[in-house]
Amino acid sequence: MPLYRDEAIVLRTHKLGEADRIITLLTRQHGRVRAVAKGVRRTTSRWGSRLEPFTHVDLQLAEGRSLDIITQAETITPFHGRLGLDYDRYTSGTVMLETAERLVVEDKEPAVQQFLLLVGGLRAMAAGEQRAGAILDSYLLRSLSVAGYAPSFDHCVRCGEIGPHRYFSPSSGGVLCAHCRVPGSATPAPETLALLGALLAGDWPAVAASEPRHVKEASGLVSAYLAWHLERGLRSMEHVER
Ligand SMILES: [Zn+2]
Repeated sequence: MPLYRDEAIVLRTHKLGEADRIITLLTRQHGRVRAVAKGVRRTTSRWGSRLEPFTHVDLQLAEGRSLDIITQAETITPFHGRLGLDYDRYTSGTVMLETAERLVVEDKEPAVQQFLLLVGGLRAMAAGEQRAGAILDSYLLRSLSVAGYAPSFDHCVRCGEIGPHRYFSPSSGGVLCAHCRVPGSATPAPETLALLGALLAGDWPAVAASEPRHVKEASGLVSAYLAWHLERGLRSMEHVER
């Protein structure tokens, strides 16, 4: 079987047979990969915690007919160790893993930008310098953008008129002017729309200066926007305080 190397974030694992697991990975070069880790559930497993969700890992894989097989794994960064100590960071990180799996829709299609966003997001989440919710919202807006669903928080998404505009519609893809608004549009505070723009741009000083009510409103709109673009809701989102 041909071998290949790659680095990856472990997104999810599930049981296979008596002692094995299927590991869902977001790799740097090969996009999403599902691979078998043999013997990983034995207490004497040589894999240790290297194939747990959140781990940034360097891998060697053997190409299989349906699933590849993990033949070597070395930890690069054990993000789960640091995130496991903080409930908000852990649950927010779990949403990031689930989002990455859902937004990268094809196995073995390179998704380098999604990989780099996820590694950067987990690093920020583990570092703890920004609020967990802000890192999550920024990650969600950016990964949606990379997936082709970039929202607009300044120009009207229908006619292009430069804002600021009052109306926000997840199904339309962002803000709408008074002429283009659709029924059911939200009317968030101007500060909330500015915060959403800052989250998308990664303008952390502006994010940190936001008032709690605008933070809460922005998180609600990010969740609505994400839900619109995913066919099913995220299971992990239920555990995040929004
Ligand atoms: Zn318009």
